[in-house]
Amino acid sequence: MTEHTPYWQNHIDGAWVDGGAGRIDVTDPATGDTIARHALADAADVDRAVQAARRVHLSGALTAMRPIERGRMVQAMGRYLLDHKDEIARTLTLEQGKPLWESRIEIDGAALYFEYYGNQASTVEGRSIPLGADYMDWTEYAPFGVSAQIIPWNYPVEMTARSLSAALATGNACVIKSPELTPLTNAWFARAALAAGFPAGAVNVLCGLGSEAGAALASHRDVNQIVFTGSVPTGIAIATAAARNVVPCVLELGGKSAAIVHEDADLDAFENDIRWGIYFNAGQVCSAMSRIIVHESRHDELLDRAVSVARSLSVGPGIDRPEAGATMGAMVSDAQRDRATGMVTRAEEQGARVATGGRKLNRAGAFLEPTVLSGVTPDMEIAQHEVFGPVLSVLSFRTEAEAIDIANGTDYGLVAGVFTSDLGRATRAARHLRAGQVFVNEWYAGGVETPFGGVGKSGYGREKGREALWNYVQTKNIAIRLKG
Ligand code: NAD
Repeated sequence: MTEHTPYWQNHIDGAWVDGGAGRIDVTDPATGDTIARHALADAADVDRAVQAARRVHLSGALTAMRPIERGRMVQAMGRYLLDHKDEIARTLTLEQGKPLWESRIEIDGAALYFEYYGNQASTVEGRSIPLGADYMDWTEYAPFGVSAQIIPWNYPVEMTARSLSAALATGNACVIKSPELTPLTNAWFARAALAAGFPAGAVNVLCGLGSEAGAALASHRDVNQIVFTGSVPTGIAIATAAARNVVPCVLELGGKSAAIVHEDADLDAFENDIRWGIYFNAGQVCSAMSRIIVHESRHDELLDRAVSVARSLSVGPGIDRPEAGATMGAMVSDAQRDRATGMVTRAEEQGARVATGGRKLNRAGAFLEPTVLSGVTPDMEIAQHEVFGPVLSVLSFRTEAEAIDIANGTDYGLVAGVFTSDLGRATRAARHLRAGQVFVNEWYAGGVETPFGGVGKSGYGREKGREALWNYVQTKNIAIRLKG
C-alpha cells in the first residue's frame, strides 16, 4: 500500500472495515492536496474493537504465553516496521509534513521501542515475601487487560510504538485511536501485529474524531487502562472519563520547556541544541526547547547565533528533502500554522521583537519561517503557552535563582535544560528545575531507556524506560497458608 491508495480502513478484530461515521480526507500539508481518505469510526466501531480486545484478553492467548515468546513477537513487530521503512516514511511525510529523513528517524525510533520492550517482556517478575513458616507469599504482575491508546498527530508512528510495544510486552490487548490529521501510518501497526503472529483482536487500530471515537474509547466500561498523548484540555477530559470508570491513565501532555544558558556555556555546541531543540519536526514536539533563558552577558551573542541557525534552514516540502541536513518541512496543517503566527503577532503587540521569521511562506502549504523572538518577558503569552511550532523565545537573566524561577514559572513541567561548564551549577539546576527530565549540556539527551513524562500540567505517569512497564500491569499478591 502506498500514498496512492485512495481509501484506508480501520482494523478491528483482525479485519479491515469501514467506519460508522463515514470517511475523512487526509491532506498533504505541504500542498493542501487530499492524498487519501480514511474510514472514521463511531462509538459502535469503538465498542466492537474493545470487545475484540477483551475477548483476546479473557481467552488467555497473551497471558498464558511464556513472556519470552511474547517478547519475540513484539520484537518482530519492530523488524516489520524496518522492513517497510521506505513505504511508511513516504506516507508519514505526505500526511504529516516532516522531511523524509525525519520520517525515517521516526520509524527507526518506533522500531527501537519494540526491540527494547520485547527484550523486557521476561523481566516483569514478582517477588516472594517472607511471612514466617506457616505461609508462602508472592506477587505477580498481571496486565490490566484492555489498554486504550489515544495518539497525537505530531509523531503518529513513534507515539503509537511507545505505548503499544510496552502494552503488548506485558500481555495487554490494545485499541489504538489514531489521530484524524495523520491516521495513515498507523495501519502498519495492525499489519505488523498480524505478521508477528498476534491473534486477531490483540491490536485494533481505528481512526475517528476525538469528540466521537476518542471520547467513546476513553469512557468505555470495558477499557481497563488508558494512555493519552496530546493537549492539556483533552487530557483533562480523558482523566475525567477514566475516573468515572475508576481506571488508571497515563497523561503525556504539552510543555513550555526552557534551556538555561549560563555565561560559561559552550555556545558553539549549543547551536546544535537550537537546531534540534526547536526546529526538528517544525517545532511540533512536546519537549521542544521553546524558551532559552540566557545570562545577560551572553544574550546578544546567543541571539545572533539563534538567528543564524534559523536562517540556515531550507523550508519546503518534506518529500523533496530525503537527505538529513539543514531542512524543515511543513507544519501539520494551515490551522496549526495560523495559530502559531497569531501567537507571534500577539507577542509583538506585547513588546517582543521578531529577530527572524514569524511569517508564513508565500506559497501553498502550511509553511512557517523558522522564528526567533527576542525581548520576551516571563509574563507574555508566548512565554507561558505552548506554540507547538518553530518559534523560539529568548529571555535573559542576571542571577542563577532568577533563571530557575523563570524556567519554573509556567503551568507545565515536561523537560528542562541547563548549559554550563560548572558542575555545581548544573547539579543545583537539576535539583531545582520542576520537570520530569533535565538535560545538562545536550537537549534531548536520553533515549528509549530513560523514563519520560511530566509534572504539573505536562501530565503524570511515565512512558519509556523500565518505569513505563508498571503502567501496564497491576500487582497481585498470592498468600498460601501452609498446613502444618
Ligand atoms: P489533541 O489533544 O487535540 O488530540 C490528541 C488525540 O486525542 C487525538 O487522537 C484526538 O482525536 C484525541 N481527542 C481529542 N478530543 C478527545 C476527547 N474529548 N476524548 C478522547 N480523545 C480525544 O492533541 P493534538 O493536537 O493531536 O497534539 C498536540 C498536543 O499534544 C500538544 O499539546 C503536545 O504538546 C502534546 N503532545 C505531548 C506529547 C508527550 O509525550 N508529552 C507528545 C506529543 C504531543
